[in-house]
Amino acid sequence: MINIRNFCIIAHIDHGKSTLADRLLEITKTVEKRKMREQYLDQMELERERGITIKLQPVRMNYKFQNPKTFNFELFTLNLIDTPGHIDFSYEVSRSLAAVEGAILLVDASQGVEAQTITNVEMARALGLAIIPVLNKIDLPHARAEETSRELIDFLGVKPEEILKISAKTGEGVEFLLQEIIRRVPPPKLLIGQTSRAMIFDFEYSSHQGVIAYLRVFDGIFKKGDELKLHFADQKIIAAEVGIFTPLLRPTEQLSAGEIGYLATNIKRPEIVKVGDTVVSFRNPLPALSGYREPQPVVFSSIFPSLGEKFEELKNALHKLRLTDSAFSFEQEADAVLGRGFRCGFLGMLHMEIIIERIRREFKIDLITATPSVLYEVFGKDGKSRSVFSPSQFPDESEITKIKEPWLDFEILTPQAHLNKIISLSREYGAEIKNTDLFGERRLIIKGKMPLRELMRGFFDNLKSASQGYASFNYELSGQREAQVSRLDVLVAEEKVPAFSRVVAKDRLEYEGRRLVEKLYEILPRALFSVKIQAMAKGRIIASRALPALKKDVTGYLYGGDRTRKMKLWQKQKKGKQKLKERGRVNIPHEVFVKMIKN
Ligand code: GDP
Ligand code: MG
Repeated sequence: MINIRNFCIIAHIDHGKSTLADRLLEITKTVEKRKMREQYLDQMELERERGITIKLQPVRMNYKFQNPKTFNFELFTLNLIDTPGHIDFSYEVSRSLAAVEGAILLVDASQGVEAQTITNVEMARALGLAIIPVLNKIDLPHARAEETSRELIDFLGVKPEEILKISAKTGEGVEFLLQEIIRRVPPPKLLIGQTSRAMIFDFEYSSHQGVIAYLRVFDGIFKKGDELKLHFADQKIIAAEVGIFTPLLRPTEQLSAGEIGYLATNIKRPEIVKVGDTVVSFRNPLPALSGYREPQPVVFSSIFPSLGEKFEELKNALHKLRLTDSAFSFEQEADAVLGRGFRCGFLGMLHMEIIIERIRREFKIDLITATPSVLYEVFGKDGKSRSVFSPSQFPDESEITKIKEPWLDFEILTPQAHLNKIISLSREYGAEIKNTDLFGERRLIIKGKMPLRELMRGFFDNLKSASQGYASFNYELSGQREAQVSRLDVLVAEEKVPAFSRVVAKDRLEYEGRRLVEKLYEILPRALFSVKIQAMAKGRIIASRALPALKKDVTGYLYGGDRTRKMKLWQKQKKGKQKLKERGRVNIPHEVFVKMIKN
């Protein structure tokens, strides 16, 4: 019998994950009481404030547990690792679940199960983890323990007596939960082999030790000085140090099969190390563990520093962010108007919001962010396909045979009262509803599919308002489908302005075209001559408006009747305007660009 238990906590935001982790640390005396501050394991300021991911640091705890047969107390090692809580990181979630044998499903008894939790539980089940359902916050007077229990019974198919009831705040029931983890979560299965193998489920970067990979060891032993290989990266490394999480990193002699710990790699190029990669012995490598996937950015946007001179600072910030987030990608680009900036790839909308917010807060750089776009696969007449996300690089309609775009499967959990509103909202966003089922007693679960492009038009915010904040939403990318979209260009003085182009659903072309023309009409300052603002798609002008000329009275200072001199001045002005027109140069101020590239 191996006295190790590896587990994670699956919980929706604010259901009490951090608070429970604190109690576990206290009971196991992992952190001295005097050093204990609330939510010990939460580290990122932004996460704390916005309550998004709230990622916990992995931690090893020790606990003396009485063996029910021998009545002897035995020392158990409990490893708690975290699942990134948010919607865009389902692949990362699957990797941390693959690193453990059990999951605590923590549900706020006053709120019930939320959509994101369902997806995570389904993933945990698919990996065969033991799931311990736990109702939290039972101290609250408005806790609906009965009702929430029934949701769990329906959803998980568990017996009522399997559901634990705790208050992470007061500590009630938490020690019993700890013992249940030992009883219900199976010990790691050990494949006794001669050679070593581990999976990277997360990593951090230190300027001193390079990439520090967080490992779940499946086979053999890892020691300092070992010659190892990152399987998918095909990169040789020498173990500079191995150790455990206390939760601070503490070096140990070795890490062996079944354990969770870290490996300092000395790799200074963080893009090499990816979540899900397998670390094996260099000389005698075992086959890679299954389930590896390259992180695929699906949402793209260009960002520019509001102040051009902050470009180098922004570049540094992006490089730093990449050290802790291998799913984030960027490359330099230059826009004639907005100056030098970066084209960035994200796992989803929330991922993008987080990165942009971090740049603003942690690096204090103000950004101009272009309307994000999805990645389209465009098939040309030449039979070749290419990936395009920048609208200005979208080929001409006449060169395209087919376009494909990413779709997603979604789930919405909502009180029944909002069903009709949510269904019609979803249809407005191009969704196909697959089915609607009862979830527990008062709620419904709606499942369907929609294009990612539509989701990005603010679906989530509208869903929240349609349900007075009660609906919860989750999605997973689910392949590609043919897209009915076209490129929409905006012309100013008969000249295309690439920064204003966008890719739009064909049935919204007219509407978007008119909207963009009107918007530009409102914000573009008048010139000395009349300026045509037009929207063009499929080679046709679909909307047009002429911005009248600024009336500047060039003769104003001439009093009286010298008609010929006035004529002369008018002639001169006309010529000047003609010249301006010939050059086709309308000066579009920076703020106008900023307003136009935002939605
Ligand atoms: P997380 O987002 O899942 O990490 O949730 P937190 O641990 O940050 O908890 C969210 C809020 O719920 C905090 O204000 C906690 O104090 C509160 N909370 C957590 N557990 C309990 C509990 O058992 N009872 C009560 N009354 N409040 C709790
Ligand atoms: Mg928290």
